[in-house]
Amino acid sequence: MQIYINQLIEDLTAAQNKKQSLNQSPTHESFEDYIAEVERYLNGEGEEPIGDILGMKEECFPPANRLTEKQLNTVSDAYLECLESWNVSIDLPDNLPAALKYTLLINTLKQKIIAMDSGITHLELCHYDSEWCPFGIKFCRCIETDKDKEFMNSI
Ligand SMILES: [Zn+2]
Repeated sequence: MQIYINQLIEDLTAAQNKKQSLNQSPTHESFEDYIAEVERYLNGEGEEPIGDILGMKEECFPPANRLTEKQLNTVSDAYLECLESWNVSIDLPDNLPAALKYTLLINTLKQKIIAMDSGITHLELCHYDSEWCPFGIKFCRCIETDKDKEFMNSI
């Protein structure tokens, strides 16, 4: 399995956005380009599943129970690094168990985003409904929000 994991890490590294790593300065050349990009974004144009952008399929990733904790963390880190190169950030609670984190991350391959040269796409996995939270009650931060809601209702 380790050989397969090494290959997976290589693939994830290869899937990083080269444009950005070569050119550290903002990539939009002109104000017009920037405006065009914002307009595309507002129109929801060019939405693509993350997996298509990276050229990676969910099937490439073994089920979490086949991997060791270390392998789970290595793949999760490589995946997050790859997303970062595409200006995508995922909001994850700290101390999430390795297997849950890995599984949630791999699930985001299906999520549609617009690859942007400027600005950051924030992926929210928790939709502030603790009952349905993918992180589970223990790690969900929407509990706080629910408490806040109760509090707001009580005044
Ligand atoms: Zn939550």
